[in-house]
Amino acid sequence: MAVEPAPPVRNAANLVWTTPNLLSLFRILLVPVLVYILRDPGRLAGAVAAILFVVGSLSDYYDGYLARKHGIVTTLGKFLDPLADKLLVVSVLIMLVAMPCGTELEVPCTPRVPAWLVVLIVGRELAVTGLRGMASSEGITLGDLKGTLEAMMRELFGDVRVRLRPSFFPYTEPSAEVDVSCRNCGGSGCGTCKQTGWLEILGSGMVHPAVFEAVGYDPEKYTGFAFGVGIERLALRLYGIDDIRMFYENDLRFLQQVAL
Ligand SMILES: [Zn+2]
Repeated sequence: MAVEPAPPVRNAANLVWTTPNLLSLFRILLVPVLVYILRDPGRLAGAVAAILFVVGSLSDYYDGYLARKHGIVTTLGKFLDPLADKLLVVSVLIMLVAMPCGTELEVPCTPRVPAWLVVLIVGRELAVTGLRGMASSEGITLGDLKGTLEAMMRELFGDVRVRLRPSFFPYTEPSAEVDVSCRNCGGSGCGTCKQTGWLEILGSGMVHPAVFEAVGYDPEKYTGFAFGVGIERLALRLYGIDDIRMFYENDLRFLQQVAL
């Protein structure tokens, strides 16, 4: 019995017009078409839209499968694929809520998708706001992590000191909380920093070897660091705001003060 050779691993990070990426692009182009069709509340338009949506969803399944099978996971694809999914789902949901109705149109005025559900889904997409950073290569050390974070924190907060505190996160080992020295008191202790002289900013660590193994990288050869920070928390520290809820209240007096 012939044994099928494994597909060669190609350095595909810089490829652009691969089949999976074209499929993602196809899904993005499907969005205006679906929006146009769903302006018509009739059954035929609904059926055509449903078929197109299923085709779009299948292309989503298929592009991921192709990219992994042929080892052509590209940088553009990693960006384009989730973007296409979100655009497609959100635009169809909004059109289903906004669809015209009335007796003369023979369409009942109960929306096919309740508006609250769309608010929930879209809100979830918006609420997960985080800044993530990751580096992986040969020879990346904890020193690189600390150097990167120090450069980032000094760019944001000026002349601050940075300290790493041992912690635990599931995907990094070792893991560390990152604190910066309190700008308010210069590190001697005040109300803002609860008399500690330090403010907790973000979580970080060295990528767990199991993570590299899971994606097919040799953990003996490759190392990396990762960090993540909620952008609201960063803004709290940056502007000296003491209540995170102010970011969600959309009070113009507040928004104008923190406009970038
Ligand atoms: Zn302080």
